[in-house]
Amino acid sequence: MATPSARSAEAHRMGPPMGVRKCIAIVAHDHKKDDLLDWAGYHRETLVQHELIATGTTGKLVEGVLGIEVTRLQSGPLGGDQQLGARIAEGAVDMLIFFWDPLEPQPHDPDVKALLRIAVVWNIPIACNRASADFIVASPLLATPYERRLPDYEAYASREV
Ligand code: PGA
Repeated sequence: MATPSARSAEAHRMGPPMGVRKCIAIVAHDHKKDDLLDWAGYHRETLVQHELIATGTTGKLVEGVLGIEVTRLQSGPLGGDQQLGARIAEGAVDMLIFFWDPLEPQPHDPDVKALLRIAVVWNIPIACNRASADFIVASPLLATPYERRLPDYEAYASREV
């Protein structure tokens, strides 16, 4: 089925097709973890149908709430955000739920910015607060195969330098 993004996409590359089961990346800064866990518990029935990957501490807490295995990377400040960014660039992550803290400076601010940037580069859905995350999990596209359209980066990658 042509998804809204795929329609009229002839001149564009498509990202790796997402299946029915998505790979959802989850990250929450410390003061946002309670909110994230409450959100995850509320959407448990939906989330357990997908593959979850998270930064270390967030992943451990989400495992506790959902009772399913979560792929746990390093803790964010120790490189977990960068690991997630790499997986997004490799096409292994379908969407990002990132409860970052707008009121607290983070020791790994550059990594936070890089993670958000690479998620935009590769056009994966991103939710940075609870309302957006609600909309993502409520979307019919979550349970549907989906092809995401990518900007044409070929010209950039093959540019003369
Ligand atoms: P954490 O990392 O899940 O290990 O706490 C999150 C972050 O601060 O990026």
